[in-house]
Amino acid sequence: MSLATKLAQERRARLAAERLLEMKQAELSAANRKLGLHAIALTKRIGETQAEVETVRDENEKVKSDLTLANAKIEVAERRLWHSIQTFHDGFAFFDSNNRLIGANTAYLSVFDGIEEVAPGIAYPRILEILTAEGLIDLGDEAAPDWIERMKVRWTQANPQPEVIRLWNGHYFKLIDQRGNGGDVVSLALNISASVRHEAELRSARERAEAANRAKSAFLANMSHEIRTPMNGIVGMTELLDETPLDEEQRLYLNTIRNSGEALLVIINDVLDYSKVEADKLVLHPEQFDFERCILEVAMLLQPGVRDKGLTLLVDYDLFLPTLFVGDPGRVRQVLTNLVGNAVKFTANGHVLIRVTGVPNAEAQSCDIHVAIEDTGIGIEQAKIDHIFGEFNQVEDEKNRQFEGTGLGLAITKRLITLMGGTIWVESDPGQGSCFGFRISLPTAEGPQPEPPDLEGRLNHVLVVEDLAVNRAILSKQLGRLGSRVTVCTSGGEALAAIDSSVDLVLCDHDLPDMDGLELATTLKERGWGELPIVVMSANPGTIHANPARHLIEGVLQKPIPRSELYARLTALGQHKVDAPAQQETEPAPATDTLDQRLMRVLAAEDNRTNQLILQKMVKTLNIDLRFANNGAEAVEAYMNFNPDLIFMDISMPGMDGKQATGEIRRHEIQTGRAVPIVALTAHAMAGDDQGILSAGLDHYLTKPLQKRKIHQMILNHEPDDAQPVIDSAKEPT
Ligand code: ADP
Repeated sequence: MSLATKLAQERRARLAAERLLEMKQAELSAANRKLGLHAIALTKRIGETQAEVETVRDENEKVKSDLTLANAKIEVAERRLWHSIQTFHDGFAFFDSNNRLIGANTAYLSVFDGIEEVAPGIAYPRILEILTAEGLIDLGDEAAPDWIERMKVRWTQANPQPEVIRLWNGHYFKLIDQRGNGGDVVSLALNISASVRHEAELRSARERAEAANRAKSAFLANMSHEIRTPMNGIVGMTELLDETPLDEEQRLYLNTIRNSGEALLVIINDVLDYSKVEADKLVLHPEQFDFERCILEVAMLLQPGVRDKGLTLLVDYDLFLPTLFVGDPGRVRQVLTNLVGNAVKFTANGHVLIRVTGVPNAEAQSCDIHVAIEDTGIGIEQAKIDHIFGEFNQVEDEKNRQFEGTGLGLAITKRLITLMGGTIWVESDPGQGSCFGFRISLPTAEGPQPEPPDLEGRLNHVLVVEDLAVNRAILSKQLGRLGSRVTVCTSGGEALAAIDSSVDLVLCDHDLPDMDGLELATTLKERGWGELPIVVMSANPGTIHANPARHLIEGVLQKPIPRSELYARLTALGQHKVDAPAQQETEPAPATDTLDQRLMRVLAAEDNRTNQLILQKMVKTLNIDLRFANNGAEAVEAYMNFNPDLIFMDISMPGMDGKQATGEIRRHEIQTGRAVPIVALTAHAMAGDDQGILSAGLDHYLTKPLQKRKIHQMILNHEPDDAQPVIDSAKEPT
């Protein structure tokens, strides 16, 4: 190859290499440029990251310092908490979910004085073992294994009941354990020694006070009992003295003595009853009794006071309510006497109404009886209503101060009703009146209950003439329920205007504002209503019987009207049976020559000489053979030798009392087949004394102070056929 060619080839190769170099240089500088840009971006990012790192570092520093602060605070709080727990006088401990002790304060640990094993980590069951094994706990009668077992079972419960333990040194602790969510247990041991001691002191103080109160009540009961005997003597003697010739002034003195004596007896009886309730000596003695009769007896008893004050006492006994119940009649009578007595006492004008309704419960053979005693008296302020049921509490204001009383009546009444399982309440409107209500449930007794008459439409129209609205309402309701149409009039004049031929009966009050019942009857007869039956109602029927116009009327109903009387009267009228004119008193039996016959023999067992004297004087006009026995034993002996026709038996006598003596006599009679009537003489019919008298075999009872009329009646009721007539030689014709 030529040189030129060679040179040309070399130049071409050099040119090609130069071009490649240029290309590579261009690529390199492009790459350099890119690298430069990347380096710039990278530097920027590094800068940013550095800033971030710095921020995080700052934050970290802060967190670290906060944490240190918080830790310090926690340490302080923990120290304070622990310090506080340590200052407790009560024990405090906490256990983990495996029942291991985490920590306990000194009070808790001090119980285990010196036993090093009791420290964090010890298991709860082991603590129980140490308590018993070391004699740290007083288990009483419980065996140690039983106690440990019981406490372990208790510990596992979700909410263990507090447990009181007694330590060897007499300290009492109440253990309260609270299980948390994670199974930890916080355990408190409260030192209750002081309150247990205090409680024991209080209990013993209360027992002492109650014993003292019972002793006081028993003393009061004994005292009132003792006071009653001489008081009965005083009141009884006044009755005898009253029958001797006295001038007016002497009689006034005598009446004052008697009234004061009787008032004192009422107070003594109240105190006696109350102290008996207090001394827990009062128990009920249920027997069969007639509830309506009981109410009417109370009404009769209070009638003199009612009459003196010009009030009207009414009884509204539900027509369809049974009347024979099983209960304690003495106590029921006492409740009624208190409530109705108060109603009369605190009422100056108007009426007192005893309303009895009830709901018989056929299944239980009982009846819920609801009694309301309504008056139109001074009333009681609302604020005083709770107060009056408390003992010795009376409403003390101007209006009330004029009334006497012990303030015990309602307290006794409330207790008696509570004892009967009932409730009592009062509603009152000062100046308008009060209504005391009580509700008791009594079993109905077997026996004939009064049946409302079936008038079969024969008394279709009754004209009721009565000025007292409440009695008009009662009669209208009762007659309405028996199927009669009732027209009510408030005066005689109104009745004369209202009368027409449809009227089958005129039922009129005796004390009408314009005329009395007999004047109305006379006018009606004069006006041609001769055939129309007229029945007059009066609280004091004696005055009507004595009136010559009595024959103009069919009959008299005594107010408050017993249902049986009303039924009998209506039935008789319904059958058009006209009553014969009043011939109330039975003729005395014709005297026969009986001098060869024996006298009626009456034995009186009475330990008190004054009472013997009173009794003797009271029967001195009777033709009887009276003997006394000074105690129960003598009474039994006299019963054997004297063979009495009637025995009066004092109940409380020294040695053998009246009930025991009666028991002896009744035992003897089982052999002889004889039955002598025995009449108990008791100091207080309503107090517990008479309870069980009838069940002790006595037939009747009379209450002291003795009343001549009742003694005579009792003797006359038992007059034997084969003896001379008892005839009262001093009896004046009535
Ligand atoms: P006492 O009648 O002996 O004072 P009570 O316990 O029977 O005692 O009655 C307490 C008080 O309740 C009476 O003093 C009287 O203030 C008041 N009180 C009772 N019943 C009535 C009544 N029907 N009307 C007005 N106040 C009454």
